[in-house]
Amino acid sequence: MILTINCGSSSLKYQLYTTDLSEVVAKGLIARIGETGSYSDHKAGCRGEKVALPVPDHKTALELMLASLMHADYGVIDGPAAISAIGHRAVHGGDVFVDSVVVDDEVMAQLRACIGFAPLHNPCNIAGIDAAKRLFPGVPNVVVFDTAFHQTVPPEAHVYALPYELYSKHGVRKYGFHGTSCRYVSQAAADLLNWPIGDMKMVICHLGNGVTLTAVDGGRSVDTSIGFGTVGGVPMGTRSGDFDPTIIFHLVNQLGMDLKDVEKLCYHKSGLLGVSGVSNDMREVTMRAEHGDERCALAVEIFVYQIKKTIGAYAAAMNGLDALVFTAGIGENSAEIRSRVCAGLGVLGVRIDEASNEVARDGYPNISAPDASVATLVVPTDEERMIAMDTLRLTPDHLLTTPRGVSSRGYEQARPI
Ligand code: ADP
Repeated sequence: MILTINCGSSSLKYQLYTTDLSEVVAKGLIARIGETGSYSDHKAGCRGEKVALPVPDHKTALELMLASLMHADYGVIDGPAAISAIGHRAVHGGDVFVDSVVVDDEVMAQLRACIGFAPLHNPCNIAGIDAAKRLFPGVPNVVVFDTAFHQTVPPEAHVYALPYELYSKHGVRKYGFHGTSCRYVSQAAADLLNWPIGDMKMVICHLGNGVTLTAVDGGRSVDTSIGFGTVGGVPMGTRSGDFDPTIIFHLVNQLGMDLKDVEKLCYHKSGLLGVSGVSNDMREVTMRAEHGDERCALAVEIFVYQIKKTIGAYAAAMNGLDALVFTAGIGENSAEIRSRVCAGLGVLGVRIDEASNEVARDGYPNISAPDASVATLVVPTDEERMIAMDTLRLTPDHLLTTPRGVSSRGYEQARPI
């Protein structure tokens, strides 16, 4: 079986797949790691358990995951050896990793060298891999990087117009994030349309709490909205998106803020929350806007406008657009946001059928109007599956069988999740 592990700064998400990836056998979330109120929520088909318990660190979280997977009542494996390979999500691979890799000492050293680029996330990813190596001895680990898909972005789009040494000596450049989601969704969109991805120009709109727009030309990322860190681009739930950097000088020099406060402001107090003053949750902000809250209405207007503008910019950058694809929490669920983003993009050939748009999430991915020259699609993202697919691809065939004497159990009766 293939196990995927996604260690965030305070959470661990995992999924266990059959080796042919046809079924998710079990999945779980261990939340609020290192905080009060931590809990584990494990599901295996219709069985499982949600329990509150102390989880001081990621090592403990992985131990709890293994205990759940082997649990007497709702476990699905007899022991660690039932796992053929493990795929880990890593946030930042710098400009070293252009693809997923099998973990070895060199990879771990390079991952550590990238900590400065993602100080909140890479240490958790490393802790997850270290713990997995101990708990699942002999099982290969594969790392899948959020940044890798964007390594094809050309220099004119990834080098900032800052002193060149910052780029050449210190790695200050656009890296791009949500690459795993974007890679999955762009291939899924091409498959749905039955077009060769190599011939397609797409804009992928990953609209969740984090928001990334990516221009994908011939299956390769050629530009993406989030840059060196995860604040830039289009406004997000609590992050600002792009703004004039002289505002930072003003905040520090004129308003007396220190840089730590400015950092907090950009990451945690801006975006939908900052403008609306009430919430980072698109459902709440749109609902209040409907009831006449002007700041909520403005927050949504800014969000939609910046997405629309970026789609236009990427169509120009690629000299064409064949498909516009919506994904993630807002992109998959909000017909209103999709409709407002697409309104006025007729100049690019984007026209949607509003009735299809309303039911898109119920399994009708193509929401284009009959006279549209651009296919507009709603494609649910599945980063875990992409991680599992890479893990399968990179694991030698002879390791993909369950060793004799060690059985997986229970999942035959479990309904697919
Ligand atoms: P993350 O980036 O944390 O993975 P998600 O992809 O889950 O986030 O997206 C979270 C966002 O999706 C939130 O802003 C939430 O309000 C929004 N969302 C979820 N369901 C809906 C819906 N039905 N309508 C509008 N927005 C929604």
